[in-house]
Amino acid sequence: MKVLVAGSGIIGITSAYYLAKSGHEVTVIEQESEPALGTSFANAGQLSYGMSSPWAGPGIPIKAMKWLAAKYAPLIINPKLTLLTLKFLFRILKNCTASRYEINKSRMVRVSKCSQQAIVEMVQEHDFDFELRSHGLLQVFRTQAQLDAAKKDMAVLDAYQVKYELLDVEGCIKAEPALVHVKEKIKGGLRYLEDQSANCFLFANHLTKICKQMGVKFEFNVSIQQINAKHKKITSIQTDQGNYQADKYVIALGSQSADILAPLGIHLPIYPVKGYSITLPIKNDADAPQGTLMDETYKVAITRLGDIVRVAGIAELTGYDKTLSDSGDRITQFVLHDLFPKATDQVPDDQLWAGLRPMTPDGTPIIGKTPYDNLLLNTGHGTLGWTMSLGSAKVINSLVSEQTPEIDIEGLSMFRYQ
Ligand SMILES: Cc1cc2nc3c(=O)[nH]c(=O)nc-3n(C[C@H](O)[C@H](O)[C@H](O)COP(=O)(O)OP(=O)(O)OC[C@H]3O[C@@H](n4cnc5c(N)ncnc54)[C@H](O)[C@@H]3O)c2cc1C
Repeated sequence: MKVLVAGSGIIGITSAYYLAKSGHEVTVIEQESEPALGTSFANAGQLSYGMSSPWAGPGIPIKAMKWLAAKYAPLIINPKLTLLTLKFLFRILKNCTASRYEINKSRMVRVSKCSQQAIVEMVQEHDFDFELRSHGLLQVFRTQAQLDAAKKDMAVLDAYQVKYELLDVEGCIKAEPALVHVKEKIKGGLRYLEDQSANCFLFANHLTKICKQMGVKFEFNVSIQQINAKHKKITSIQTDQGNYQADKYVIALGSQSADILAPLGIHLPIYPVKGYSITLPIKNDADAPQGTLMDETYKVAITRLGDIVRVAGIAELTGYDKTLSDSGDRITQFVLHDLFPKATDQVPDDQLWAGLRPMTPDGTPIIGKTPYDNLLLNTGHGTLGWTMSLGSAKVINSLVSEQTPEIDIEGLSMFRYQ
């Protein structure tokens, strides 16, 4: 079968891989000149299978109000509120109940667990280096209240068979020895033992090469303008380089998915939540992070990738604007130097980057069928697209191939919003 995948971010590339593996004739269309130059370019690299949770949950509205007023604010909302932002905030609020959180988390965990297994298979099957580290993920608490809240969350982790350990300060230092320099700043941590970290961009590029060897055609510098349909069937994808036709079409356009699909009457509640990262060379290995951490106070992730450190965070609601702002640089640099003061140079030659997380209000990606017979979606992965990529791609391949997916797909498709 001829399958056209729209988008060569991590979601499009992993989809193309499993589709080619199933014997389909796959073409990937991408507006950029290379793979993974969108949101998949410089994310935090966390493979957070155990920490897969929606942002929206009980207590978040109050926390969010406090974050907005904080000096190093993890949440920024452009005061010029647009209808798009207001709608997103309203939908997020609706998902902040305990019952919605439970449902949304269970859907995300299903996809993440599938990804966790798929990474193992990938490493066994292909020999390429993508800076994978299996060092767990350490959530760092700076206050007793955070530590106490974590104790309450442990029941949820047990319910999802997530392997974890609650650590005191000494335990945190054992996991991340460089924290010894700042031990007075932390109260403890929660370590997700099976979480990993790896370089998403490197992985995407290696997988692209493998896809090409498997016969996948990549069409770069091709910009999709519209999707043509007749009688609830897609007839072609119109681009600035002409029309592309296939038997089935998979949309993996990240934050752009909603705009491209809207003329078809498919209205996805995907909001482009801007996040920032900086990437710095490590000066001294012993003083650097060994795995990946999440500073619970500032919601900033610090990840070791090869001989660099990537620091990422902030949720900025400002529509599709990707302008780099000082706040992105300030908070990431502050948290890095506060927790790992000796890891990098104090006045670094940094590389500030911003990406748009394709966020759904329920945190769950949109994977599955549409009202159009031959159109499928694999998008809306928000904060955890790298983590959920392989599981999502396996599901989409099963649906395109008309086979039963290996996980329960209840609540993953766009129809959950109707
Ligand atoms: C600061 C930050 C930190 C993050 N940290 C993590 C993390 O630690 N772990 C994790 O799991 N996730 C993380 N994420 C989330 C993760 O990066 C995303 O969920 C993931 O990259 C989304 O992948 P995607 O393929 O859907 O989107 P993208 O990577 O954006 O790919 C979409 C592609 O579609 C192309 N495209 C769009 N429109 C068109 C068009 N009209 N024509 C042709 N092509 C088009 C784009 O050029 C792009 O290449 C982070 C995100 C950010 C911003």
